[in-house]
Amino acid sequence: MNVLVVGGAGYIGSHCVRRLLAAGHRPVVLDDLSLGHAESVPAGTPLIRADMADAEALRSAVREHRIDAAFHLAALADVGESVREPERYRLHNVVKAAAMLDVLEAAGVRRFVFSSSCAVYGVPPRVPITEDMPLMPVNPYGRTKLEAERRLEIAAGAGRASYVALRYFNAAGAASDGSTGEDHEPETHLIPLAIGAALGRRPPLTVFGTDYPTPDGTCQRDYVHVEDLADAHVAALTRLDRPGTALALNLGTGRPHSVREVIASVERAGGRPVPHAFGPRREGDPPALYADASRARAELGWSPRFTDIEAIVGSAWRWHVSRSR
Ligand code: UDP
Repeated sequence: MNVLVVGGAGYIGSHCVRRLLAAGHRPVVLDDLSLGHAESVPAGTPLIRADMADAEALRSAVREHRIDAAFHLAALADVGESVREPERYRLHNVVKAAAMLDVLEAAGVRRFVFSSSCAVYGVPPRVPITEDMPLMPVNPYGRTKLEAERRLEIAAGAGRASYVALRYFNAAGAASDGSTGEDHEPETHLIPLAIGAALGRRPPLTVFGTDYPTPDGTCQRDYVHVEDLADAHVAALTRLDRPGTALALNLGTGRPHSVREVIASVERAGGRPVPHAFGPRREGDPPALYADASRARAELGWSPRFTDIEAIVGSAWRWHVSRSR
């Protein structure tokens, strides 16, 4: 299939592009490069530098490349920033996303894979999290992801589109061939910050909270390898062959890891300490989030190949070390 990857120069998008190529599809990237990197797009893959809601750019991409399906990964995704700038998050993640979908649908694109998030659940009543749990996001980021899912649900209900919304847990790791990895600036995520601290490229890490009701007092998350996430997008394409598909699926390993465990894993990967200090809780952090991904297994035949935190952290470590900064 010819697949428009909106946000294909970003962390997860650029891995999706590689997995599409490996599966014999033809990706076309549309990215404004505000957060993504042109060098993350493999040579030979068309890169259209445009705003995600640029109607003319979208229409001509669909025409020129005979687009069959679209992946949408062009969201703002920093929870803390979303709290400070909720209007900007809504404009980008909801209003512009809807405008983009309007244009694509009108141009005849009916199959969508949407990059959603476990942030749609907020603080779940239980873990592991299943898709039928209440959708009660606790920050603007999660609310915008939920609204964007709703937009797709409405289109599917009206028979205009089919979609799979993939609710990622904590995306982590880097490409197995070392070609691309996680490169955000500013960086807010635990694994790259811990690696940066160990390499002396970033300040010591602050552990946000040690008094959570978890076995070691620090938050537990479900770190899922970015190549596994990308594989799920490619698997979802096949599922979209069935008209009327409207699915939301959790993507995680189902294994919780605490902040202390991640630090220990980075120390083992690098063979050196992660300088760190203990600080207060970060506002809005639920104690434990991990996935029940059995629906993704049933619907897509997907299960993560990376189930071991050591392998996930190890791939991230190798990629960061290979970079000069
Ligand atoms: N975390 C931390 N120090 C940091 C960044 C993150 O202790 O400098 C913790 C954070 O509280 C959470 C976990 O690491 O429990 C993962 O955070 P991250 O920002 O990577 O992802 P999130 O779970 O917020 O999507």
